[in-house]
Amino acid sequence: MGWPVGHSVSPAMHNAAFAALGLSWRYEPLAVPPEDLAHAVERLAAEGWRGANVTVPHKEAVVGLLDDVDGPARTIGAVNTIVTRQGGLVGANTDAPGAMEALRQGGFEPAGRRALVLGAGGAARAVVYGLLSAGCGVTVHNRTPERAAMLARDLGGVGPPVVTASNLADLDLGAFDLLVNATSAGMAPHVAASPWPEALPLLAQWTVFDLVYNPAETRLLARARAAGARVVEGLPMLVQQGALAFRLWTGATAPVGVMDAAARHALELMSLKRP
Ligand code: NAP
Repeated sequence: MGWPVGHSVSPAMHNAAFAALGLSWRYEPLAVPPEDLAHAVERLAAEGWRGANVTVPHKEAVVGLLDDVDGPARTIGAVNTIVTRQGGLVGANTDAPGAMEALRQGGFEPAGRRALVLGAGGAARAVVYGLLSAGCGVTVHNRTPERAAMLARDLGGVGPPVVTASNLADLDLGAFDLLVNATSAGMAPHVAASPWPEALPLLAQWTVFDLVYNPAETRLLARARAAGARVVEGLPMLVQQGALAFRLWTGATAPVGVMDAAARHALELMSLKRP
C-alpha cells in the first residue's frame, strides 16, 4: 500500500519468490490515497489477504490502525510490514534488520563503530534504530533540524544518545566509519542531486551506504567509489527487508537470489522507460 505505488519493484520481487517456491500466492500493488488508509487496512483481513507492505507516505500513519505493533516498529514509529493473524493485524518493521543485513553483507560490522546518518524520515529512523541496537554510535544531520532532534529524542533509549549535527562542515569527519544516505536526494529522476555537499570530502576510510536504489549507482556512491571508500548500494536492503517480510507472511525462507534478480530486472525495465 502506497501513494503512489506504480514505481514499486516489490510486486516483481515477491511474485518471483512465490513462483520459485511453488506458492500460489500473489502480491499486488494497492494505490491508497491517505484519506483511504483506514478503510484499506480494514479490508485486509476481510478480503483474506495474508499481509501487506506499507510504503510512503503511510508507514507512520498505519501504526495507529493496527491491533498490535511489535516493539521495534513502535520505537521506530513506522510499520512497513503487516501480518494478518487470527488475533488481528500485527505491524513490524523489516527496514531496520534489512539495512543491518545489507551492511554486514557489504562488509561493514556496525558494533563499536561511529555512523553519520543523513535524513530523519521513516527510513532514517529504521536505520538509526538498527545501528544503535547493533552497538554503533550515531550522529544525525537533516535538512530540517527539528526532525533530527525529534529522531534523537524518540530513539534516545535504544543505545548511546544520538548526536544531532546542524552543520556538516563543523564535524570531525575522520571520527566516522560509516556515512548513510537515508534521504531521498539522488533518487530518479533527480539523479544529479546528492545529499553530500560537493565542497566536503568523502573519506577513503569510510563505508558509504546509500538507501536510494534507483539508480543503483547514485552520484553519492560514484563520488565515494572514486574517493576509495567501500560502498553499499540500496538494493540489497530492499531485498533483505523483502525477504524478512516474506518469511513473516509465509513462514518459508525467502529465495533471496531470485528476489534480487527480479528486483534488478524490474529496475532495469523502469530505467529504460525513463525519458
Ligand atoms: P521520508 O520519510 O519522506 O523522508 C525523506 C528524508 O529525505 C527527510 O529526511 C528529508 O528531509 C530528506 N530529503 C528529501 N529531499 C532532500 C534533499 N533534496 N536534500 C536533503 N534532504 C532531503 O522518506 P523515507 O521513507 O525516509 O525514504 C528516504 C529514502 O530512503 C528514499 O529515497 C527511499 O526510497 C529510500 N528507502 C530505501 C529503502 C531500501 O530498502 N533501500 C527502504 C526505505 C526507504 P526533511 O526532513 O528536511 O524534509
